[in-house]
Amino acid sequence: TEEERNNFEDHKKSLPIFAVKQKLIKRMKEENRLVVIGETGSGKTTQIPQYIYNDILNGKGKIAITQPRRVAAISVAERVALEMNTPIGNEVGYCVRFEESFSPATKILYMTDGMLMRHATLNRLLTQYSYIIIDEAHERTVHTDVLLSIIKKAQKERQKRHIEDLKIIIMSATMDVGKLSEYFDKCPILYIEGRLHPISIKFTEDKIDDYLFACLTTVMQIHSKAPPQHDVLVFLTGQDEIENFVRSLRQMGKNCKTDIDLTVLPMYAALPFALQKRVFEDTPKNTRKVIVATNIAETSITISGIKYVVDSGMVKAKLHKPSSGLDILTVVRISQSQAWQRSGRAGRQSAGTCYRVYDKNTFDLMPANSIPEILRCNIASVTLQLLSLGIKNTLTFDFVDKPSEESLNSAVDQLSWLQAIEKDKGNELHLTEIGKRMAAFPLDPRLGRVLLAAEKNGCLEEILTVVSMLSADSVMLISADQREKAEAVRRKFQSVEGDHITLLNVYKSYKGSKKNKVWCKENFINHRNMKIVIQIRKQLRKICIDQNMTIKSCGEDRSLVRKSLVHGLFMNAAQLHSDGLYSTIMDRKMVNIHPSSVLFRSKPGYVIYSELVQTNKCYIRDLSLIDPQWLFEISPEFVSKRLIRQ
Ligand code: ADP
Ligand code: MG
Repeated sequence: TEEERNNFEDHKKSLPIFAVKQKLIKRMKEENRLVVIGETGSGKTTQIPQYIYNDILNGKGKIAITQPRRVAAISVAERVALEMNTPIGNEVGYCVRFEESFSPATKILYMTDGMLMRHATLNRLLTQYSYIIIDEAHERTVHTDVLLSIIKKAQKERQKRHIEDLKIIIMSATMDVGKLSEYFDKCPILYIEGRLHPISIKFTEDKIDDYLFACLTTVMQIHSKAPPQHDVLVFLTGQDEIENFVRSLRQMGKNCKTDIDLTVLPMYAALPFALQKRVFEDTPKNTRKVIVATNIAETSITISGIKYVVDSGMVKAKLHKPSSGLDILTVVRISQSQAWQRSGRAGRQSAGTCYRVYDKNTFDLMPANSIPEILRCNIASVTLQLLSLGIKNTLTFDFVDKPSEESLNSAVDQLSWLQAIEKDKGNELHLTEIGKRMAAFPLDPRLGRVLLAAEKNGCLEEILTVVSMLSADSVMLISADQREKAEAVRRKFQSVEGDHITLLNVYKSYKGSKKNKVWCKENFINHRNMKIVIQIRKQLRKICIDQNMTIKSCGEDRSLVRKSLVHGLFMNAAQLHSDGLYSTIMDRKMVNIHPSSVLFRSKPGYVIYSELVQTNKCYIRDLSLIDPQWLFEISPEFVSKRLIRQ
């Protein structure tokens, strides 16, 4: 209606970005690279594409805007379509994995950074776009980093070939993006003056051991004192934690004396979209909204009305386990810059308070900024991605933050042993057919290779289980006081073939049980981690199906499962040396079998392992018994130099 349209016009004019609208348009016309910095909520994501569309492009050319998260891409696109009074999918659209809404008429396309990378594999110069906006660049995800390099290259190449100029805009909610301006040949930086009200920061007196409990009591203290509609935003780390927290808080809200109703809402990326939308809705007068979110609420979404922030100081981050070559998601401390970002959420509309549920000393020990993901995660995966984008030499690739030469080289070695890449006569690297298929899996390339081998060996059903088990945290509960009992109960799962087959037995028995939760309790299996395994397995299975792979089971012949594992893990083979010590064939390191392994006592001649753990001694964990002959069959090039045939 007319009234709604006027409301949107007023809203747009009220945003901090409106004050610099003309200046911004002028700079965007003049420059072909620009960094824009502005606090969350200042209007970058929703307004800048509209400025370009209305005041610069005049119907010519398309704009792509990337987001690290699919939720943000969809919700922002819907919001902008509303502001422009057009149905979603016409002028404004979105495109994320497994979901899209756009048409030939689409001029403003919101998408995930992963999706734009896919577009780049099909059209390296990205000629369908005149403007590319990389949003939330401060997050420095692997995809963002790789994209920055790709578009820099595309822009140069388009200039050289006299194709229409590619305009690049990089947007950030934090100041620490000097490096990105540097990377784009010291391109100009434009600041949007934010409107931040004073925020009072409170630390705890003492060091906190149980941050969940501390967050819970902090929220209840706020709730008992603060007037209604003074809403609270709590930062926690992940889905399960948030769901449990929400449940406890709702319970405590019921038992609380105040007559203000408590509305507790979760917010995380995997939450169904309809439920996510609820956090943006206004609540009735005599209530208080408490939103319990992951770091998704740091910068990528804007929730109005927040007066209090409760910051656990923790976040889930991807970390590379060099021992196994696997990336793991684990809970770590946030950086100081994240802490400031979180507290900023309390001062959008008026003065606010941020409760940091950690002491000042803990804050001082936090790193100033987060380390870019590309320096933390598995470089073999990144290398595989780059090659699938047609990059022929990763050593000379123009990274924003370059991984060490040693790790880049070792990634290339690993990928060629895995038969994922080949060098041509000019020493340039190419993906093989195997490599192309491996690149489709969001897994360490070794495990991707295992999946492909398993298809050939007719045991993909089993391998999907093993790989999912290895990708999650351990499902075996370690109980200090009931250790012997746990071991006795779990003995029935044990296989002489090793831990991988044992994991398979656990999964089978779990799937066969009627009451999963009870079964887990009886068998000392971590129910939460088991559910994560099921989720991962579903995702991987879907990718296999999308790739037309045949998913078969090998039945009782588990040697095929072990043989498939060797196809990816031959680099992790070890040979019995003496005194029960093993020597790794990769670098002749002396290691022990971990006492948790089912092969701890039997000590077979040859094993492969999924993980190397360094404590006071060096241990190998998650093992399978193997036939050394398989090593010669599967990777003669790697093995012959390292293993003497007996
Ligand atoms: P930035 O990208 O600078 O963080 P946005 O452009 O995302 O800012 O948001 C600007 C303003 O638009 C927000 O402060 C909020 O008022 C409004 N807004 C954004 N997204 C939504 C939405 N999904 N629903 C309602 N209002 C929204
Ligand atoms: Mg934004």
